[in-house]
Amino acid sequence: MWNQQFECLPRRELEALQLQRLKKTVELVSRQVPFYQERLTEAGVSAESLESLKDVERLPFTAKSNLRDYYPFGFCAVDVSDIRRIHASSGTRGKPTIAAYTKGDLATWSDISARCLATAGARPGDVLHNSYGYGLFTGGLGIHQGAETLGATVIPASGGRTQQQVMLLKDFRARILCCTPSYALNLALCLDDMKLSPGDLKLEIGIFGAEPWSQECRRQLEERLNIQALDIYGLSEVMGPGVAVECLTTKSGLHIWEDHFLPEIIHPETLAPLPDGEEGELVLTTLTKEGLPLLRYRTGDICSLIAEPCACGRTARRMSRVRGRLDDMLIIRGVNVYPSEIETVLFSAAALAPQYQIVIHRERALDVLTVRAEFAQSTAQTWHRHGSDEHDERRKLTDTITTRLKNQLGLTALVELLPSGTIALSEGKAVRVLDLRLQQDS
Ligand SMILES: [Zn+2]
Repeated sequence: MWNQQFECLPRRELEALQLQRLKKTVELVSRQVPFYQERLTEAGVSAESLESLKDVERLPFTAKSNLRDYYPFGFCAVDVSDIRRIHASSGTRGKPTIAAYTKGDLATWSDISARCLATAGARPGDVLHNSYGYGLFTGGLGIHQGAETLGATVIPASGGRTQQQVMLLKDFRARILCCTPSYALNLALCLDDMKLSPGDLKLEIGIFGAEPWSQECRRQLEERLNIQALDIYGLSEVMGPGVAVECLTTKSGLHIWEDHFLPEIIHPETLAPLPDGEEGELVLTTLTKEGLPLLRYRTGDICSLIAEPCACGRTARRMSRVRGRLDDMLIIRGVNVYPSEIETVLFSAAALAPQYQIVIHRERALDVLTVRAEFAQSTAQTWHRHGSDEHDERRKLTDTITTRLKNQLGLTALVELLPSGTIALSEGKAVRVLDLRLQQDS
C-alpha cells in the first residue's frame, strides 16, 4: 500500500478526521468565497455549528452552473498569486469551469494520484505509458505527477498517433497503460492492424477512466490486451483523476479517498440524501483543498456507495462503477437510456467490433433511436469462408442485436451494421452520441 496508515484508518478515526477537516474547509470558504459566505449565512451554518458528519446535509450544494457564473476566479479561496496551476474543463457549452491548485494542492494531488496507481497494482520501477491528453484537461498531468511520485518511469504519450504509441508500448516494455477505455480499444484494434498480438507487449495492467464504461467493455479490454483493466474516477472540478479507484484485489467498486473527499448520494430531483447501497447522484465535498475547495459538489454521476469492508483491507467506502452521467442520460420516447446500457449489449456480441455510434432524431414528433455498430473483420471472414450470404447474415445479426437492445432498454432501436473501419476511432474522450433533436428543435 502507498499509505497504509490513511488507507486502513479505522472508520471511527477516519470519520473524526473528516469532521475536523470539514470544519476547517467550511471555516475557510465562509471567510474567502462570497458564494459560500452568502449561502452559509442564509442557512445559519458556521464551522463551529457542525457537530457530526451528518451535518454536511445542512451545507449548500454547488452546481457546475455556479462555477460558470463565477468564472474565472470567483470560487478561489486564496489570492490568485498563490495559485500555481490552472486546469479547465472542455467548456463545450460556453465558459469552461476551472480547477485551481496551490502548491499544497499539487502535492496532495500527486500523493493521491500515486495512491490510486499503487492501489490498481502499479509499482515503483514500472514503465507507465500515459495516453491521457496533456494540457488543460487534468487527465494527462494528473496521472503523470502521480506516476513520478510513485517512482514509475512515465511515458507522456498523450493522445493521437496511435501506431507510434503501439510501437512505444512494445519498445519501452510498459507494464501499465493509462488512458480512456475508448482509446484503449483503439490501441487494441491498432495492434491487430499492425499484425501484433498482446504477447508482443509487456502490458499487465490498464487503468482507465474519464468516461463511463461497462463491464462488457472491461471484458473486451482484458481479452484484447491480455491485461487486468481497472476503473479510476475523478473530475476536474473536484481535483482531477485520483478521487477513487478500484483495487486490484477485488476489482469491485472504487475506493473513494475519504480522508480527502466526503461522498454523499442524493436523489437527483428531490436532492434528498440516500442511504448507502441506493443509486443516485454522487455529491462530493473536498476536505483538504486550499485553492478551490467545494462544498457538496453535484458531480452528475450516477452510482451508489458500498459500505461493506473490502477484502483488500482498505477502510474507505467504495462507489459502484458510474452507470452514466446525468448530462449523458437520454430520454427517448419517455424512457431513460444511458449510453453504457447500449454499450453492454453491443460489446457482449462477439460478432461485433467494439465501435459504435448512437444517433437520435425526430420523425413526425417521434424520437427515433439509431444504433450504428460494426461487425468485426473476423466475422466477415467467417461468412466468406463458410460461403454464407453476407446480406442474410447481416440481417440475422441485426435482428439479434435489435431484440437484445429491446430487452435491455425497453424500446426499439434501428440497428445499422456497418463494415469494420467505418466509424471513427477515439483519440481521447470518445464522442459516441449524436442527438440531432437539439438541432431540430432550434
Ligand atoms: Zn479494496
